[in-house]
Amino acid sequence: MSLSITFHGAAGMVTGSKHLLELPDGRRILLDCGMFQGEGPASDALNRRFGFKPESIDALVLSHAHIDHSGLIPRLVAEGFRGPIYATEATRDLCEILLADSAFIQENDFRYDAKRAKKQHAAMTEVGPLYSSIDVDAAMALFRVLPFSTPVEIMQGVTLTYIPNGHILGSASVHLTVAGREGVRKITFSGDVGRYVDQLLPPPEPFPQADVILCESTYGNRDHPPAEGTEQELLGHVQRVCVEQQGRLIIPAFSVGRTQEILYALNRFFNQGRLPHVPVFVDSPLSINATNIYRKHSALLRPEIRKELEQDPDLFGFPGVEFIREAARSKELNTRKGPSITIAASGMMDAGRIRHHLFHGLPNANNAVLIVGFCAPGTLGAHLLEKPDVVHMYGEDVPVRAAILTMGSYSAHGDRNELLQWIGCQDPGLVNKVFLVHGTDESMAGLRTLYTQHGFTHIDLPKQGQRFEV
Ligand SMILES: [Zn+2]
Repeated sequence: MSLSITFHGAAGMVTGSKHLLELPDGRRILLDCGMFQGEGPASDALNRRFGFKPESIDALVLSHAHIDHSGLIPRLVAEGFRGPIYATEATRDLCEILLADSAFIQENDFRYDAKRAKKQHAAMTEVGPLYSSIDVDAAMALFRVLPFSTPVEIMQGVTLTYIPNGHILGSASVHLTVAGREGVRKITFSGDVGRYVDQLLPPPEPFPQADVILCESTYGNRDHPPAEGTEQELLGHVQRVCVEQQGRLIIPAFSVGRTQEILYALNRFFNQGRLPHVPVFVDSPLSINATNIYRKHSALLRPEIRKELEQDPDLFGFPGVEFIREAARSKELNTRKGPSITIAASGMMDAGRIRHHLFHGLPNANNAVLIVGFCAPGTLGAHLLEKPDVVHMYGEDVPVRAAILTMGSYSAHGDRNELLQWIGCQDPGLVNKVFLVHGTDESMAGLRTLYTQHGFTHIDLPKQGQRFEV
């Protein structure tokens, strides 16, 4: 029985996850529908052409809510997809806020560009947002929520099981079985594999034996620093910046995952009586919405954390923390005197309210910026990591006198040893093919070597648009 897989994204790169599975009878299942990000016009061009007909897809199976895995779903629907979108409940809830935010940003950017072009009497080069908030509503209506760890027949002869994989709330690896005349084929797609030592989520779970595996490789050639001591290090930064220097600790953080990890750590310090009396601001409506979804799905958190809930019903809030939705209140922070901790998005510092905090906070040597997430090349975050004397923001040169601190131990992705641990539940002799996706050339090469050493002999590194019979 011949199945085929065509790689329409995250092939030889990290973003744009989209893998098209074609069954022998012609039915088509799309695994993830992610947006390409971070490459400017090149990403935009890729985002405007799927490489397949959206109406020809029978079902979409979503691994998790991150935009590089879900961000083009509204466009898929706008271009004719009408099938079911399978996801876990938490993934669905997160998609609702992330896709709405994505549409909002695109519509805003488009209006801004149009205004500027009109002012300069220039022609608009931009062809419009990828989708609108109306398209998001239409997409959300197609979601079908599935439980974890339960095989469900999603179409005749095809079962889908979501295996918890510890990456973000609701995230899962996808295990599909396809029954045909010559037996059953078993295909596992890793999604993004999380950590075995995550602060909030239980470790990735083993998955049933597969004969074809699609595996992410983001950190396929790297190790994370040890996770022990992470909380102590964070508390040390708070103590030094906010108490000793009486400065502002500015923490750029992804709205989903990292913001909740930081809040959870601060909440623990508070409960233990170790958090200094410093106001904490969470300045991002999206982060607040995401935190509420973490609260709603606290049953998915680590068992130890669920136990803590019996003592403390809110793991992400404590006296002294203010969640800020209104822009006016956010602006008041710019002129506020005295020490504080400000957590704001975006994590890579290219958009969002964090930019105002940096603009006002960077010139003061008593302040510090604590970078706790990955910053893609070309972003302001990546630039700050080089510790420049000056950055250019809002048409001004802003001196960087604040300390630039980093904590590399926070990551939503397993490192190479954790990727090895993830695939360790498999008998390599029964795996016909491993495809490495979602990585750079270096990280995929590193993971290929590692997996080969452990008996996985048929490994391919697909290129964009490449089709394989499996
Ligand atoms: Zn992800």
